[in-house]
Amino acid sequence: LSDRLSGVFDRLTKQGALSEADVATALREVRVALLEADVSLPVARDFIKAVQEKATGQAVTKSVTPGQQVVKIVHDELVHVLQGDEDPGALKIDNPPAPILMVGLQGGGKTTTTAKIAKRLKERDGKKILMASLDVNRPAAMEQLAILGAQIGVDTLPIVKGEDPVAIARRAKTQASLGGYDVYMLDTAGRLSIDEELMAQVEAVRDVANPRETLLVVDGLTGQDAVTTAENFDDRIGITGVVLTRMDGDGRGGAALSMRAVTGRPIRFVGLGEKMDALETFEPDRVAGRILGMGDIVALVEKAQETIEAEQAERMMKRFQKGQFNMNDLRGQLEQMEKMGGVEGLMGMMPGMSKMKGKLDEAGFDDKVIRRQIALIQSMTKKERANPQILQASRKKRIAKGAGMEVSDLNKLLKMHRQMSDAMKKMGKMGKKGMMKSLGG
Ligand code: GDP
Ligand code: MG
Repeated sequence: LSDRLSGVFDRLTKQGALSEADVATALREVRVALLEADVSLPVARDFIKAVQEKATGQAVTKSVTPGQQVVKIVHDELVHVLQGDEDPGALKIDNPPAPILMVGLQGGGKTTTTAKIAKRLKERDGKKILMASLDVNRPAAMEQLAILGAQIGVDTLPIVKGEDPVAIARRAKTQASLGGYDVYMLDTAGRLSIDEELMAQVEAVRDVANPRETLLVVDGLTGQDAVTTAENFDDRIGITGVVLTRMDGDGRGGAALSMRAVTGRPIRFVGLGEKMDALETFEPDRVAGRILGMGDIVALVEKAQETIEAEQAERMMKRFQKGQFNMNDLRGQLEQMEKMGGVEGLMGMMPGMSKMKGKLDEAGFDDKVIRRQIALIQSMTKKERANPQILQASRKKRIAKGAGMEVSDLNKLLKMHRQMSDAMKKMGKMGKKGMMKSLGG
């Protein structure tokens, strides 16, 4: 695949903005990559379409081909879609005893994952957990959970022969309350495929337990089927999250994207082996890299972007050292401040700055001022911005008027610029080392 890709990208080497054709060509390859990663066809199609609209017209980073740029955009979008708003590792388990319902097809990894999560909650969060197997179809399955429980030091509900899943769920709930457990986990039976009996059973259990979390456990290697499974469980039972197992295998894990797209639920964890600690919190960046399988291209574009940023910073530093701090630089600094949440945001980020904030307030320097100053600079011509020394009375009047302000406002801005410019020159004389020292204290 990589060879094929580089072939296409070699042909796309012109710079500038991404044209529709650039994007379409690169996305054809991305589409193949997604399908090879087992992303379901409709999900891949929708995803590509969304990226197509976003990517067209975007700028291409210097020393990067349009094709490579598209891959980076695809990667970022993939991370964005996979990410969601929730913190994947934070299960809702307040109000003890909190029920967690584990659902999924047979062999997906429910029982193993139940124990893995129990171990995690016990060790990381110091929770007291009770696990109960509701798999009455296979006596060995109940034994399996009991054995895992003993292994990780987590209690399991004693097995009572002849009980149905709903009765077991009730007993688990009672036992969890009486025994002072923080969480009780219900490991349900699966089937090889979705059927009415399975769904009705899980539904009945859900109604008894009223779970805080209902986690769908899916084999990360299943592609198309994962979507049907997720749709069915979410429609009928209502899931709150997904666990993808067997991500230690060599599958590319496209199921992650399908799951997320179809259910809109967060992917919480990934299973990375049969051992009890082979469970990790879901990391979108890693899984995105794996699905796309173009990590080297993404890294290349990121490197190019970093290089350009570093070059810009270096250029700016050199100019400051020479005392060439003009209005464009000042505007850049002001805009940076605004982006970082204004005065308030900046102060919040730096410890011990609350006193400084008081001083700025006294001086009447607030977020509105930043915007007004930017407006004044915008009202200047290119020449004036590069050379603020040329500003005479008539120019000042014009600029202030253009920004809807007084000449006195402009004078304040010019004074600030002079002070900053002097400070920059001083720092410049100190050299890079001295500058870092004076900034870092
Ligand atoms: P259940 O039928 O859904 O309860 O599935 P099980 O928990 O019994 O798991 C079925 C098999 O998959 C067992 O042999 C597990 O050890 C194995 N398994 C579960 N999760 C993982 C995983 O993340 N990676 C690997 N390699 N195997 C797993
Ligand atoms: Mg099981």
